[in-house]
This record gives sequence, C-alpha cells and structure tokens, in this order.
Amino acid sequence: MNTGSANGPTGNERMLKIVCPNCGERHYTEFRYAGDATKSRPRHGSADLRAWHDHVFLFDNPKGAHREYWQHVLGCRQWLVLERDTATNTTGRSWLASEAAPP
Ligand SMILES: [Zn+2]
Repeated sequence: MNTGSANGPTGNERMLKIVCPNCGERHYTEFRYAGDATKSRPRHGSADLRAWHDHVFLFDNPKGAHREYWQHVLGCRQWLVLERDTATNTTGRSWLASEAAPP
C-alpha cells in the first residue's frame, strides 16, 4: 500500500479539500459547485434579455485566484463563497454566502 510518504501524495491527499464555515474541512465531493461568485445578477424582474443571456450563458475562465459559490450538499446544506486558485486548485478562505467577505 502506498502511504504517499516516499512517492509523493496519494490520490486522497491530492484531492481538493474545502473548509465549510459550519462543518470544518471536508472532501470536495460533499459540495456542489454553483458558479462564479464575482458575477453580478441582473435585477429581479429585469426585462433586459441581453443582461440575462450574458449572466446565464457567458462565463469567464480566470486563471489564478477566484471566488466561487459552493453548496455543502452532503453536510449542512449551506451556501458558501470559496476562494480557490484555479491554476493550482488550492483553496483559501471560505465564508457563508449570506455573510460579507471577511476583511
Ligand atoms: Zn457544512
């Protein structure tokens, strides 16, 4: 059995971990990715079809630090904002989506 100490990290050690503000560190498979947390949604009731089209169908593909929405579907079911580096797939701070970003 490969413990990962002599040959680098094992598959489980390389897997993305996410810190849920309620539950602590968990494997990413407990979460569902829910999109870009930096996009602004068109105003509720807006009839601006171009703005809705752009919001729903157009996405940036940033490289580096990014903020994303995730939901802890196999835990507390809360929505959170996660800072993730898309180039290295490492995670940073996270907080509940209903709260303001920490300073
Ligand atoms: Zn949770």
